[in-house]
Amino acid sequence: MARFFRARLVDGPAGDPAVFVDFRFAGRALLLDAGDLAPLSGRELGRVGDLLLSHAHMDHFADFDRLLRACLHRPRRLRIVGPAGLIDRVGSRLASYSWNLLGPHSADFSLLVLEFAGDGLRRAASFAARDAFRRSEAALPVLPPGVVLDEEEFSVEAAELDHGIPCLGFALREKMRVNVWREGLAALGLSVGPWLNAAKRALRQGASDDTVLPVGGGAAVSLGMLRGRALHPAPGQSLGYLTDMAGTAANIGRAAALMRGVDQLFIEAMFLDIDAALAAERRHLTARQAGRIAAMAGAGRIVPFHFSARYHADFGALVREAETAFAEAGPHGARAAPVPGS
Ligand SMILES: [Zn+2]
Repeated sequence: MARFFRARLVDGPAGDPAVFVDFRFAGRALLLDAGDLAPLSGRELGRVGDLLLSHAHMDHFADFDRLLRACLHRPRRLRIVGPAGLIDRVGSRLASYSWNLLGPHSADFSLLVLEFAGDGLRRAASFAARDAFRRSEAALPVLPPGVVLDEEEFSVEAAELDHGIPCLGFALREKMRVNVWREGLAALGLSVGPWLNAAKRALRQGASDDTVLPVGGGAAVSLGMLRGRALHPAPGQSLGYLTDMAGTAANIGRAAALMRGVDQLFIEAMFLDIDAALAAERRHLTARQAGRIAAMAGAGRIVPFHFSARYHADFGALVREAETAFAEAGPHGARAAPVPGS
């Protein structure tokens, strides 16, 4: 089955955190954190339409500038979602450069910055290249509690976790997978074409069976004819991202609820359980806690990352601990993803 997106750790499990989510549909990608983006090509960075930032510790936010540099001359909007205070932080980063060469002739690039606090988006501001990145007010999107992005094909929920400072976890879910059966189309005398996108959209939006869809050449078909014969709804793909959170009961409960049933969970495993006191002091998870959270959430697969350099001789120990906790506590004994080079 075709994937809706592919996600990968940009700099491996021990590098500064960033996950690149590459959507199957044309020209779009999303980043979770911007720690070290150097391994991404300019082309990949230029496709990024959204940056979901957990918090502004330097190892998660340092390469924002690299992303900005790659997008600066592209006529599009880069949306950034992060915790309270992000608008000022982005404003400060922009203010550290000279923008005298920007003006009305510049590419229409802009940043839309959205702050999430409590259970929703609270503040919005935009910075446009044509206005030399001066800050201006922006409308807050009206979204249900916890939701930070709501697109036609997917949505993203966030939750505020405690890391000494607020740190956001994110869950991205494809809304509904609509599989096309070519044999079914052929049996109806229909061929594949752009009209299928409208048909899939109608199905996703819950349109009634008597909805009529043009199929080209003046012909039309009802949604009811397509449903079950040529278009088959299926559960969508999903992904979770959890990093930099204290292993407290409140955090663990909130994180597991946010991540309920995700297919793939990227989760920090910074310390081994034998160093649990250090993990608590630094407000990070141990690998064992990471595995348990993944199991509590009913995640399909766990991808441990954000390894402390203190374990450089055997990062695999962190993976094994997370994997064991996940398998012991999980309902289906799922295995952790292998770590390259470990
Ligand atoms: Zn941090």
